[in-house]
Amino acid sequence: MKILFVYPQYPVTYWGFQYALKFVSKKASFPPLGLATVAAMFPKDDEKRLIDMNVTALRDKDLLWADYVMLSAMAVQRESTREVIDRCKALGIKTVAGGPLFTSEPESFDDVDHLLLNEGELTIPKFIRDLNAKNAQHIYTSDQWADLRDTPVPIWKLIDQKKYSTMNIQYSRGCPFNCDFCNVTSLFGHVPRTKDAPQLINELNSLYESGWRGGVFFVDDNFIGNKRKLMNDILPALIDWMAGKNYPFAFLTETSINLADDEKLMEMMVKAGFNTVFVGIESPNESSLAECNKTQNKNRDLIWSVKKIQHSGLQVHGGFIVGFDNDNSSIFDSLIDFIQQSGIAAAMVGLLNAPKGTKLYQRLAGEGRLLKGFTGDNTDYSMNFIPKMDQELLVKGYHRIVNTIYSPSRYYERILVFLKEYNPIASSTGPLSFNHIMAFLKSMVRLGIIEKERRYYWRLVLWSLLKRPQVFPLAITLSIYGYHFRKVFEKTALES
Ligand code: SF4
Repeated sequence: MKILFVYPQYPVTYWGFQYALKFVSKKASFPPLGLATVAAMFPKDDEKRLIDMNVTALRDKDLLWADYVMLSAMAVQRESTREVIDRCKALGIKTVAGGPLFTSEPESFDDVDHLLLNEGELTIPKFIRDLNAKNAQHIYTSDQWADLRDTPVPIWKLIDQKKYSTMNIQYSRGCPFNCDFCNVTSLFGHVPRTKDAPQLINELNSLYESGWRGGVFFVDDNFIGNKRKLMNDILPALIDWMAGKNYPFAFLTETSINLADDEKLMEMMVKAGFNTVFVGIESPNESSLAECNKTQNKNRDLIWSVKKIQHSGLQVHGGFIVGFDNDNSSIFDSLIDFIQQSGIAAAMVGLLNAPKGTKLYQRLAGEGRLLKGFTGDNTDYSMNFIPKMDQELLVKGYHRIVNTIYSPSRYYERILVFLKEYNPIASSTGPLSFNHIMAFLKSMVRLGIIEKERRYYWRLVLWSLLKRPQVFPLAITLSIYGYHFRKVFEKTALES
């Protein structure tokens, strides 16, 4: 059987880093790890190809090659997903689909031949068995959670690694917390399920042997969800493996803010080669944190927590939300002040939305406040419910936040707040490549000559070279990120 795995296109978003990727001559940040893993669940004898539409055009002749086209997608890829399904229908090619978009709303994709909902480890074997018996069903689902120890190593050779800036890997699924706007727990459960240390090391070895060197993103919903296993088994194994291989990778991941409470854990993560964590901070407003059940962020000094993580050697990327019922018009200034003081350069601020399957969705449905149109893109000015605050005021305030925090003066000011205190650990910076040098040269032209931020850029370059040369590469990286964020919001402001 010939299977074509297709990853639909996503729009330009904060997370896509599309404008920044041009500096390193890459087409996308991360490859479709889910599809590369799912591919390994199909029989060895099947012929397999993978097209990520974010890096390669999908031609009709690619589709016609396949007996089955298998798609995986998130909500933000809805438009492109629909186009691919329609193209397959027109060409008479059978479609199979799985992943968060299809699991959350299978009713929108009833024309897909086979929907493999929930986790592939559980539904794909049943689908393959029925397919072989020529009795494949329309929908496969499961109310169980998969054991990640059964998850195979992704087929890396399906991925054209040189088109990506970072590879990815998964150690766990699920999160012990229960934030009401987040669909992680409905999709993956409350009890983090993990791989074992030898399995993870085997996976890292396979990535190493595929030739990859550089950034590796642990895509876990909350990497520190099971701290005991992490500190007793996983991190010691990672520390040894990285040292033994002379630090070929630089890791980044997502964690909850309680990482700040455990110095030993942060120390071990840095020693293992982590240099960046994404943390959902959401709001400086305690009543909004209570409203969304972000218990781990309540009753703590959030700025102090961020600084604690930064001091340990980890850069913090932060997620923020406005539009909670408890937000009033003072939230805009307090969020700007918070972000500036925190030194979080990569601060992603979005308007609150309610994905299907979340507690928030249920509550808003009960209150009759839901609207259609969840886009999954939290930077596109859309909301799928009626907010308590006057919507025009809210959108204007949101616009003011992003306009302010990504304005060159405030953005570069924030980079300095961070870099003055940050001490990068040599083992967690990853190997320097030709692409890094090219990125610096391109940044000199684009940010140092063409763009309006040039005086801030040169001031930062000189400051870092003269005062803190060890943070110079990071200063350039953050300048490039800032350019991306500004462009994303300029684009979405024009479209909205
Ligand atoms: S901590 Fe993060 S992953 Fe966990 S429920 Fe909250 S938002 Fe979701």
